[in-house]
Amino acid sequence: MTAPQAAVIAKPPHPATAERAEAIHIWNLHKRFGELEVLKGVSLTARDGDVVALIGGSGSGKSTFLRCINFLENPTSGVIRINGENVRMVSDGEGGQYPADRRQIERIRSRLGMVFQNFNLWHHMTLLQNVVEVPIHVLGMKRDEAVALGEQLLERVGLSEKRDVYPAYLSGGQQQRGAIARALAIRPRVMLFDEPTSALDPELVGEVLKVIADLAKEGRTMLLVTHEMKFAREVASHVIYLHNGVIEEEGPPETLFGAPKSNRLKQFIRTVS
Ligand code: ADP
Ligand code: MG
Repeated sequence: MTAPQAAVIAKPPHPATAERAEAIHIWNLHKRFGELEVLKGVSLTARDGDVVALIGGSGSGKSTFLRCINFLENPTSGVIRINGENVRMVSDGEGGQYPADRRQIERIRSRLGMVFQNFNLWHHMTLLQNVVEVPIHVLGMKRDEAVALGEQLLERVGLSEKRDVYPAYLSGGQQQRGAIARALAIRPRVMLFDEPTSALDPELVGEVLKVIADLAKEGRTMLLVTHEMKFAREVASHVIYLHNGVIEEEGPPETLFGAPKSNRLKQFIRTVS
């Protein structure tokens, strides 16, 4: 079994690591699906302003890792601390565990904005309705306030004119930018992206990456699973290369891409770029 590894993350222009609060701390995370152990002791700490890129081959456990962070999957073991809260887990008596307090999970989810590979806008609602739905109906925000926020976010992702349009009439790139606006509308502490551009036609990838890069420049904290190596190199403060459920190598992008140590990573970089 591999020893737990901790990511120490610091990159200018952000203040030194110790001066920035921890947003996410994961320690020695394991996840198994029956006999298959998909995550074998993955650890990471992300502080406010960190942009952590997760790279790795298909099936290496990247999506499972993100899904464990917001409890779309229950981790088999390990520590998860988000927004300063340690998630309390109880044993299911069969080698697994589940959250002791669903309200704690809801609270934690409300601090995380998630954007998936497949545009997951609600198809029976206009774009603006998609963005304001959770703020109004889950977070109890006043409608006027939510609409003002929604309009501001749609402007930020370049979709002001599309506010009253249904998702079916938007391009894939527009839908994905809409999904980013919707995720931002809960005012999350951390954004989680799982291959946000991999289902897009190539000519639409750039507009979505641009929105994510702008968020990174603003100092937004994010965990980003991506196959776009050039992009990861540009926006990430820290890169983690996952192989077979283990962190094979990690470090600042200049080192990880510029001077990779592991042969497996070298080969991975060759095949994807
Ligand atoms: P990645 O996102 O890096 O491509 P995933 O996290 O999706 O990898 O998957 C890692 C491994 O876990 C794969 O072998 C996949 O088949 C398996 N896996 C993922 N989700 C489940 C599930 N719900 N049940 C069983 N196996 C799963
Ligand atoms: Mg995946």
